[in-house]
Amino acid sequence: MSPSHALVAAVRFLAAAAARALSPPSCAGCDALIADAAVFCSDCARTAVPYAERPAREAVGSSAAAGAALVAFAPFGGSLAEGIRRFKYGDRPDLARPLGRLLLGAAREAGMSVDLVVPVPLHPRRLAERGYNQAALLAAHVADGLPASLAPRALCRVRSTAQQAQLSRDLRLQNVAGAFRVRAPERVQRRRVALVDDVATTGATLAACREALLGAGAASVTYLVLATAESGADELRSSPPSAPRT
Ligand SMILES: [Zn+2]
Repeated sequence: MSPSHALVAAVRFLAAAAARALSPPSCAGCDALIADAAVFCSDCARTAVPYAERPAREAVGSSAAAGAALVAFAPFGGSLAEGIRRFKYGDRPDLARPLGRLLLGAAREAGMSVDLVVPVPLHPRRLAERGYNQAALLAAHVADGLPASLAPRALCRVRSTAQQAQLSRDLRLQNVAGAFRVRAPERVQRRRVALVDDVATTGATLAACREALLGAGAASVTYLVLATAESGADELRSSPPSAPRT
């Protein structure tokens, strides 16, 4: 990038940031105007009830929790699902702020105590298409609010993995096993890690990341996700609804 291009990019970024700061707060689910402290409008809030406000018998998590602690804001569905879909597929990186606030709230509610916040990495091709890694934006927000450091590039994908959506749980685990690597092991050694993603379904991706982190010497890995979903919600998780499967 030439200096003039860098300057233009910087000015654009600042202009976009200023526009965001000046625009009134809007609902993460439907863009209705809301009070500054809220994430959802009152209609959307009815379908995004956090685990913390649900009966205790509604256990947090799914099979994703197998083998590791999992902290989640709410079950996947309703306006939370809509917010996540817009965040990932609607070119709305600005939604990292309200959704990140929900994630941070869940971490605090759970009394999460970690040293390092690490996002699940996106495949480089997906990253190029989307322009941002939604998990990394969420992780940045969480690290800002917790007494913890952000390590946005601690994990990388060492190989591309087939689309998870069409695979059975066993095949998913095989599909992603060994797909992740820790870039700088000294960065994670003896650290308690919060591993951040937007949605946990079977937990195969999270488990593969956890294995890599523990293998590199992390003291512990806790999953931190906005939503836990049944496998049926994978349509939303793995690819944009209209995109061809590759
Ligand atoms: Zn709304």
